[in-house]
Amino acid sequence: MAGNSLKTALRTLALEAGAQAAGFARACPVDTEAAEAFDRWIAEGRHCGMGYLENYGEVRRDPRLLLEPDASPEKLEAISGGYTVMVCAFSYYHPECQESGAARIAMYAHGSDYHDVLRRRLRPLAAYLEEMGLKARVCIDTAPLRERYWAVRAGVGFIGRNGQLIVDGMGSYFFLATVIFNAPVEPDGPCRRSCMGCGRCVSHCPGQALSPDGIVDARRCLSYLTIEHRGELPHELHLPDGSLRPMAEALGGRVYGCDECQRVCPHNAAPPETAIEEFRLRPALRSLTAEEILSLTPEGFASMFKGSAVKRAKLSGLQRNATAIAGKCHGHEQADGESTPPRTQT
Ligand code: SF4
Ligand code: SF4
Repeated sequence: MAGNSLKTALRTLALEAGAQAAGFARACPVDTEAAEAFDRWIAEGRHCGMGYLENYGEVRRDPRLLLEPDASPEKLEAISGGYTVMVCAFSYYHPECQESGAARIAMYAHGSDYHDVLRRRLRPLAAYLEEMGLKARVCIDTAPLRERYWAVRAGVGFIGRNGQLIVDGMGSYFFLATVIFNAPVEPDGPCRRSCMGCGRCVSHCPGQALSPDGIVDARRCLSYLTIEHRGELPHELHLPDGSLRPMAEALGGRVYGCDECQRVCPHNAAPPETAIEEFRLRPALRSLTAEEILSLTPEGFASMFKGSAVKRAKLSGLQRNATAIAGKCHGHEQADGESTPPRTQT
């Protein structure tokens, strides 16, 4: 099949799977500037407790190795036709809100775990490629792949000062799914836009975790602290001006993730609603309080969060966070290092 008709067919399948946008880039090593910036970020320890980001550096630099793990650079270059990275953006935005007084959960985790939902929805697209005799791999936030970099390269969007991938005209409430396959299609060309630079994400961040140049300090990012950080939460956040902010005050009722740097972004003024029912707010979370979380048994937690991304924090992590918003934080440690905000997009 000629590259352009393959591209049209794949884009159609992505839209049928519920994506709002899809773009294509030629798979090749990431550019030197981006590779060096990532290596520097790791060397400076800014990835904090996310040690897994230190692994598979070679693959992160060249996504073709996801399909050809044993190939040398020479062999990859010699393979005729080449490889393509397809990036699909799925909105998870929905207008339903949790009730006031409920323990706040970031919107991306209101429904079912996107890893499972998107993998299932992209099965027909992967099967289509495989039926053509091609090799294909669907990656949803778990492979050593720089999704936001490839989303920019594929023309899907640009990266805001808040570190999020912003789909032009649609905002940042998106999951990214990437498909790499061994056939060429016409690339869409990189997105050259940048965000408005209004600084609202920086000034509204409850932990003052964002620097004006878009670097995120995980020691003060509530997304990192409530989801990825293991051990006790700090009593207070050490702000850049030397002052201390009580953790419970910074959390502001959040027990899982934080949406603030997206909520205030002008690019999110009119986000498209998700086409996927499983991403909408689960009824059980609408009025769930910190006290109810604290009384959950392991069985109750497993049942309430079955198939939910919230399971990542485990019952112990969720109860630790619930304790903190109930004003009973007993932690002593301060997480160290810096990082981009953990998920919504990587
Ligand atoms: S998710 Fe964004 S607004 Fe929330 S603490 Fe982290 S950087 Fe700040
Ligand atoms: S809030 Fe303003 S500075 Fe931050 S990402 Fe959005 S447009 Fe850019």
